[in-house]
Amino acid sequence: MPTYSHSKLSTFESCPQKYKFRYIDKIKVEGYDTIEAFLGSRAHEALEKLYRDVLMTKIPKADDIVEFYEDSWERNWHPGVEVVRKDYSAEDYRNLGRSCLRSFYKRYHPFDQDKTLALEERVTFPLVKSNVNGGRSSQVYIRGVIDRLAITPDDVIEIQDYKTSRHMPTQMELDADRQLGLYRIAVNRRFPNAKEVRLVWHYLIHDQRVVSTRTPEDLEVLTGEILDLIDRIESETDFYPKESALCDWCEYQSICPVRRHLFEVEQLPLEEFKEDDGVKLVDSYAQLKEKKRQVEGELDEIEERIINLAREKNLTKLVGSDQQLKISFSRDYHFPPVTDPQWQVLERIIREAGRWDEIVTISHPKLKSIMKKKTWPEQLWSKVREFAGIKESVRLYLSKKRGEE
Ligand code: SF4
Repeated sequence: MPTYSHSKLSTFESCPQKYKFRYIDKIKVEGYDTIEAFLGSRAHEALEKLYRDVLMTKIPKADDIVEFYEDSWERNWHPGVEVVRKDYSAEDYRNLGRSCLRSFYKRYHPFDQDKTLALEERVTFPLVKSNVNGGRSSQVYIRGVIDRLAITPDDVIEIQDYKTSRHMPTQMELDADRQLGLYRIAVNRRFPNAKEVRLVWHYLIHDQRVVSTRTPEDLEVLTGEILDLIDRIESETDFYPKESALCDWCEYQSICPVRRHLFEVEQLPLEEFKEDDGVKLVDSYAQLKEKKRQVEGELDEIEERIINLAREKNLTKLVGSDQQLKISFSRDYHFPPVTDPQWQVLERIIREAGRWDEIVTISHPKLKSIMKKKTWPEQLWSKVREFAGIKESVRLYLSKKRGEE
């Protein structure tokens, strides 16, 4: 049975190639961790321990929680933890985690704002996919882990989530957050008679508690969006890499077509780097492109001077030492572009005259876009698909390397 989680869906959205590596090819990069993920896990464990103690009516001291965190940091630390932001050391992150825990402790001690219902609670629930072509509907499962489920004295169930990210979201982002929206659906099914359910995030670095809610209509829209996204994932065939700032944190850089060359050559000493075939080709290509740009600029300028001279002297041919140059002036009809309101008037006139079919042809770019997005009904799509071959095209894009923009 297909199972999805918020992070699985997000991986596809951020990079289909990464999704393929992780969830289809199931490639595991042993021993790789980012310091952000490592810190997040340690902070989550410490807060789980805190509330587990509280559940047992034992209120630990702040120092106990910090000590637990330090022990866990030591026990779990391994050389594969990658610190991407080179301005900071692993020790800086460790200190940050410690400070987050102390602030959290101070803010909520003695932890009597609510009662814990569950810690690190695994949830799984089905969503039904209806078949638009009249076939049988099917189910997908959604799973996730709720950091803490709590109930307040006025019977409000809270889905609590700890975040150690540096980005503090806006209320609008929280109100559209998919992860806790999904947990909200799960809690709805488990507590159908709940008076009220609240989504609560603790942004530990900012020492902020932020809240959002969802209406039944919001959850319906969310369900539709998730099922649409799952349809897109399940009909995806290309899984192209999507390069972004997140690549620096990706464990697949050494095998990804976008990052592999960079990954390989940045380990090389300067001499070997300069001798790498790829590096040499890109350097030559960049130099020639620059030359071409300069020559094209000079050509544009000289063409303009030739046209001006020909107009001024009323000439249609100029001679050089070995070659001659014909200058051809011509006049042709020019119609307003399709975005111009005048175009609509023109279109109506031609349609009314019954001559529209004489000038309209299939737009290949539009047809290709419809085929890719599958916006036509399946029956029509599959018939048209029979006429479509696959043609590979290659284009080269030159840009500055990361960190040199
Ligand atoms: S390195 Fe970037 S482009 Fe490549 S798989 Fe990872 S996220 Fe995708």
